[in-house]
Amino acid sequence: MVTNDTIGPRGRRSNRRFRERGGVSVYPATFEYFAPTSVDEALDTLERFGDEAKVLAGGQSLIPLMKLRIAAPSALVDIGRIDGLDALEERDGRLEIGALVTHADCEKSDLLRGRYGVLGATAPLVSDPIVRNRGTVCGSVAHADPQGDWGSALLALGAEVVAQGPDGERAIPLEDFCSGPFMTALEPAEIVTSIRTADPGPRAGGTYLKLERKVGDFATVGVAVHVSLDNGTIGRAGIALTGVGPTNVKATAAEDALAGAAPDDDAIAEAARLAAEAAQPLDDVRGSAEYKRNVVRVYTERGLRTAIAAAQS
Ligand SMILES: Cc1cc2nc3c(=O)[nH]c(=O)nc-3n(C[C@H](O)[C@H](O)[C@H](O)COP(=O)(O)OP(=O)(O)OC[C@H]3O[C@@H](n4cnc5c(N)ncnc54)[C@H](O)[C@@H]3O)c2cc1C
Repeated sequence: MVTNDTIGPRGRRSNRRFRERGGVSVYPATFEYFAPTSVDEALDTLERFGDEAKVLAGGQSLIPLMKLRIAAPSALVDIGRIDGLDALEERDGRLEIGALVTHADCEKSDLLRGRYGVLGATAPLVSDPIVRNRGTVCGSVAHADPQGDWGSALLALGAEVVAQGPDGERAIPLEDFCSGPFMTALEPAEIVTSIRTADPGPRAGGTYLKLERKVGDFATVGVAVHVSLDNGTIGRAGIALTGVGPTNVKATAAEDALAGAAPDDDAIAEAARLAAEAAQPLDDVRGSAEYKRNVVRVYTERGLRTAIAAAQS
């Protein structure tokens, strides 16, 4: 067991200085740290602490929250030493993304081109190389930030979250996973062991377009688009939006309008209009609601053209 109250003399001195000034330090509250080597061991620890414990993956969202004391778990269960959670592979035509697969792993993977193009386009747009080297795809989905890029990309492609808990394994469709900002269907003693995508079919393509104020920023607006062709028409389309709702938003009416349609200008324009209608943007420092809704329309049109061309090639 390691606790973080063993800070060195310099840390102690600066804490005293903070207190003398009436301020507070930003070090996390004390917690117990566990590094299990199997999923079962991790689940035992999570069960023991209940909702006082948190899974630690890449730490790129959790650690900043703990430093600010927005999160103060009593125990951290670091899954980084568990074998078998780092697979990024195709099984029976579906992609499996293990709990320890990082954004950088996805950025480098040849598998994420072509049929899984929406994922390949997303990876390099998540934050900066430092975050991408540590942060995980499953951690991003479990964190359920409405501005998270992976939530939209995976919603567009079609995916389910595979969770393991004391009662065994269950698969949760991604559209049922997030119930609100930073809220998921996950029980406190469950671990996301992987995310499994739908089979895109042989003729598929996709992309992710992200408007950001500067490189590495969270999305002002993000639009994920996936298209599977069936005999030249659109068999299935997936469209999901980032930063314009309390969760990643699945533009269902736009997807339905495209299913079975010829991939032409009229169908694309109508789907883009419906996607903009599905957005629930707010005015904020990143832009007005009206501006963001318009970006959704323009990016959906552009994304669909790119995805259709990729699927046809
Ligand atoms: C400066 C900065 C910029 C960023 N910019 C972006 C951006 O542009 N786009 C974007 O999408 N993200 C961005 N992020 C977030 C980043 O992508 C994180 O890596 C990601 O959100 C969380 O993944 P993680 O592995 O680091 O999870 P952690 O921080 O370890 O955990 C996050 C949460 O998920 C839970 N969790 C993690 N893994 C599991 C699991 N396997 N099972 C159950 N629960 C789990 C944890 O308990 C915690 O509640 C940014 C982060 C930083 C610090």
